[in-house]
Amino acid sequence: HVNDVLGHRFGDRLLQEVAKRLTQEARRSNDVVARLGGDEFAMLMPSADIALALGIAQRIQRAFERPISLDDHTVDLGAGIGIACCPAHGVEADTLVSRAELAMYAAKQHQLGVKVYDAALDMSSDESLSLLSELRTAVDRDQLRLYLQPKISLATGAVLGAEALVRWQHPQRGLVPPGKFIPFAEQTGFIRVLTGWMIERSAMVLRQLHAGAPALKISVNLSTRDLLDQDLPTKMQRLIDTLSLNPHSMCLEITESAIMDDPQRALQTLERLHAMGFKLSIDDFGTGYSSLAYLKRLPVDELKIDQSFVFNMERDLDDAKIVRSTIDLAHNLGLNVVAEGIETAKAWKLLQALGCDEAQGYFVAKPMPEALFADWIRDWTAPQVQAVRLDSDFSRLAL
Ligand code: C2E
Ligand code: MG
Ligand code: MG
Repeated sequence: HVNDVLGHRFGDRLLQEVAKRLTQEARRSNDVVARLGGDEFAMLMPSADIALALGIAQRIQRAFERPISLDDHTVDLGAGIGIACCPAHGVEADTLVSRAELAMYAAKQHQLGVKVYDAALDMSSDESLSLLSELRTAVDRDQLRLYLQPKISLATGAVLGAEALVRWQHPQRGLVPPGKFIPFAEQTGFIRVLTGWMIERSAMVLRQLHAGAPALKISVNLSTRDLLDQDLPTKMQRLIDTLSLNPHSMCLEITESAIMDDPQRALQTLERLHAMGFKLSIDDFGTGYSSLAYLKRLPVDELKIDQSFVFNMERDLDDAKIVRSTIDLAHNLGLNVVAEGIETAKAWKLLQALGCDEAQGYFVAKPMPEALFADWIRDWTAPQVQAVRLDSDFSRLAL
């Protein structure tokens, strides 16, 4: 965050200040302070016990209660600290470091300040914690996979494109869904690497697809951290240049909450991306807190109705009404509307009747490996829903 707002040079100097404070707390002559990378530091304290380590961790926390001032800026910092002891928690350096890291993430997640490793962390239902250090190497080891889920025109039944969804092919755990690692990638900043990978991969897939179907578009999900990254538009420009990507064929999906985290900056980034030619979409619409005032100002092209309203819309009249109003709202603002989470022929038919533009959901297809998509398009025929009957309350909604 500091890098983004105050620049990398400032970020570097801040890290030096942090190192200084840490070194002051490591008072014994053979204590070692090291930087692991990013904003992560480690302290090795030979022949200390848990009590001593805890005492020092608390001193470090207090040391960071004082903001750091550099030039004219004052920055508030916080530290999440994890402790692992030898031999109680491991005897190998690797094990100790990753267990201290695990404890640190637990400390951050639950805002505990300091946390000592305990075996329950490793086995906690939230296995995602232990995936974290492995995630960092997932790109180098070629373990990320791009899946595509088709987007279809409700009016014509034609394939318009697909949404790119990441999967992690883990050597032991199999295919890990994004819900298990995206939140952690966001906390650690790894999300930028992941987003970069997704965009690059999507650009390559587009190049292959465009040989046969030049109008297809791919949508890629951006996270809050991506949006706050002031370098994002520059990075995107580089991809346009190096991969000869046509920005008109890529749509960037942003959730409402990502925008509302820092609307001012999100707006700036979005305006630059829009000016470069990228399509922009608001994902999971209806679940966040975006105010209509922002919706009006954002340079977006598309609105995706959250699946929670779509799942039951053919049975729940209130959901159906919300969907109808959202479609009207979007159209009145000149936006394209996509419904995701369409699982049944009835939902498809109702959305068609309500004038929704695009459909995405298991009723059409589940997300599939990128390599299968071209064949899938060839075999696709639009669903025949003439014989599907909607209950009268629902068909009346469309009148
Ligand atoms: P999303 O962007 O809203 O994506 C739609 C999710 O709904 C996908 O889950 C998709 O598989 C699922 N879905 C689509 N149609 C249906 C349906 O008919 N029924 C049901 N039950 N589910 C359906 P997935 O792939 O697990 O992704 C979950 C979320 O993870 C995404 O929600 C998105 O927020 C995030 N995500 C996925 N890939 C990426 C990525 O590359 N970068 C970022 N930042 N986030 C990603
Ligand atoms: Mg999405
Ligand atoms: Mg969504």
